[in-house]
Amino acid sequence: MRCKFEEHYVKSGRGGRKLDDVRDKYQKACRKLHLTHNEYVLLLCEAVEFEKDFRTVLLPGLLEHQQLLQEAYIATWKQIFQEITSNSDLTSEKFREIQKRIETSLENIKPCDEYNDFTDKHKTTPTEPVKFTFDESLVEDSAGKLLPDQLTVDNLTVEWLRTKLNDLEAGIKENQEKRTAIRGSQEGLANGKSSPNQELNNRLSTASVDISRKEINELKCQERKMLKQTELIRSALNELGCEEAPTACDLSIDNQTFITNSSEQGDAAPSAVSKAGFFEPHRMFGLLRKPFRRKSAPSSPVAPPRSRGGAGRRESGAASEGGDPVALTTNKALVDEEWFHGVLPREEVVRLLTSDGDFLVRETTRNDECQTVLSVCWGGHKHFIVQTTNEGHFRFEGPAFPSIQELILYQYNSGSPVTGRSGAILHKPIPRERWELNNDDVILNDKIGRGNFGDVYRAQLKNSNDMVAVKTCRVTLPEDHKKKFLQEGRILKQYDHPNIVKLIGICVQKQPIMIVMELVPGGSLLTFLRKKSSNLTEAQLMKMCLDAAAGMRYLESKNCIHRDLAARNCLVGYNNVVKISDFGMSREEEEYIVSDGMKQIPIKWTAPEALNFGKYTSLCDVWSYGVLAWEVFARGGTPYSGMSNSKAREKIDTGYRMPAPENTPDEMYRLMLRCWEYKPESRPNFEQIYSVVETLCAAYRVSFC
Ligand code: ADP
Repeated sequence: MRCKFEEHYVKSGRGGRKLDDVRDKYQKACRKLHLTHNEYVLLLCEAVEFEKDFRTVLLPGLLEHQQLLQEAYIATWKQIFQEITSNSDLTSEKFREIQKRIETSLENIKPCDEYNDFTDKHKTTPTEPVKFTFDESLVEDSAGKLLPDQLTVDNLTVEWLRTKLNDLEAGIKENQEKRTAIRGSQEGLANGKSSPNQELNNRLSTASVDISRKEINELKCQERKMLKQTELIRSALNELGCEEAPTACDLSIDNQTFITNSSEQGDAAPSAVSKAGFFEPHRMFGLLRKPFRRKSAPSSPVAPPRSRGGAGRRESGAASEGGDPVALTTNKALVDEEWFHGVLPREEVVRLLTSDGDFLVRETTRNDECQTVLSVCWGGHKHFIVQTTNEGHFRFEGPAFPSIQELILYQYNSGSPVTGRSGAILHKPIPRERWELNNDDVILNDKIGRGNFGDVYRAQLKNSNDMVAVKTCRVTLPEDHKKKFLQEGRILKQYDHPNIVKLIGICVQKQPIMIVMELVPGGSLLTFLRKKSSNLTEAQLMKMCLDAAAGMRYLESKNCIHRDLAARNCLVGYNNVVKISDFGMSREEEEYIVSDGMKQIPIKWTAPEALNFGKYTSLCDVWSYGVLAWEVFARGGTPYSGMSNSKAREKIDTGYRMPAPENTPDEMYRLMLRCWEYKPESRPNFEQIYSVVETLCAAYRVSFC
């Protein structure tokens, strides 16, 4: 601004308005500058002064202040310590008084008084106890076999119950031993040397007593549970006494039905009998051995027990209807007694015992142990296991005898019930039936075949020297297999037809059990057809089909479904007579529904409804007959050759049928196709089949002799 003023001053010659403005601005600028300068100078002066004071006055002043503060602290602490010192003077009267009060209070602490009303104060009302009751609806459908709250003792459960009882008894013993051990260790602790710290000792021992008491209580509760269960099982088993446990699912025929059929109708009605599936002895073998009978068998089913001494020995021999008197003796070996039935299965036994008081003795194996069983009909069938005493004598509930025969004789003569619970009294010993042969009656020769259950032998009957075929059942097979094995015998023994293989007897006196049959010399039809294929004429093949139809017509009339009709299960006898054999799968029912799976089913021989729904009727056998006739004309060929079972089944369902084997007469093939009608009701029955084949045979001028 000064430069500008000087410039104007020079230019304008020190006058003019412009110069005034510039001078004005110059003065203002000057003023601003000088003021700022002065402020600066003053500030510097202030700073210099402050700096000086900071060092000489302020900083020392701060230190001084700090020092004063510290001193104040110290003074305060000093005062506190002085108070503490004066208050904590253990010698002061006040302190001693406090000490005294604390001591008195501690003295007055009594643990048992402290929690005197603890229980009352803290107890709460327990929740309602849970009631455990048997839901009766669960057993409604069990036909009375299962009862609410009651253990079921039968052949399926008895062993389990016995094992359970043993386990429980062992558990109780173990429990008691544990308790004794705990008590012992407690006493040891109580008598142990006390350590110098008596108080600690006492406390440890109280704690251990407490733990032991808790353990003992738990064990006692456990034992109570086990004792209750033991009681329950024991009383259920005691109920059984020496009786054999009843069968849970007895599939055998109803005893009452048998009585009605046989006694009321005289000659048993064939349909009812064959349906029920048991033997009609008088129809098949004529008069059997005379049954044993006491002269005056009591008429009431429950005869009062007689005292041994009072009535004396009852007459043990009796003349049976017009026969020789037969006595119950004790001088034979048990196996030779006529009323001893060896290992005849229970299902067969119950068929023989038809009236109250009928009895027999047999053997059974349980858990590899051979037991002798007295089976009695007494309002149902009862089976009593002969008990052996420590001295090796035999008894039921009454006195013991050195031999089983004497025991049975005593029961029979005394009229005492075998057990109090059963009330069963022995009236009539039931002798072995004609077909119950002794194993020793048969001499096995060479092996001629192999069956499902064992080998098949050509054999000789000792008494007659007749040659027979004997099917054996492997000793190692389980019991239920043995029963199945005998099933064939049971079915066969009621049939008598030239085209059905004949039963001669069963050997069940001891193992191995055997089925004795007529020997059919040509062996299996399948092997026969294959071996002789080139020599067999159409007429002979047709005759074979007629034989099979005749056998099947007979079975159909008896309501017997074979279920395994095939060339391999037919036998060829003299003059190429075909006989139906292998009744292992047979059932005597109009309709049989398989419910236990379809194991080992001969798929290619079985009708679709049997495969698909397990429904068997004689019309299923008709389907199989069609396949059998096909096998005959194919001279032992394999049906549905080249097809797996499932493929054949699938193709049949879609309408496929095997073509006729070469040279099969048209009529015969038409019959096969009718046998293979998908709907069973569209198939012919065996009566119709027989007449068709008979007409065809006549055309071939076949001799039927
Ligand atoms: P499983 O029924 O146990 O299978 P089979 O009845 O099929 O036993 O018999 C097996 C074989 O024993 C037959 O194929 C046949 O060769 C022979 N066989 C069976 N029974 C007789 C018999 N009564 N006469 C001659 N041979 C027989």
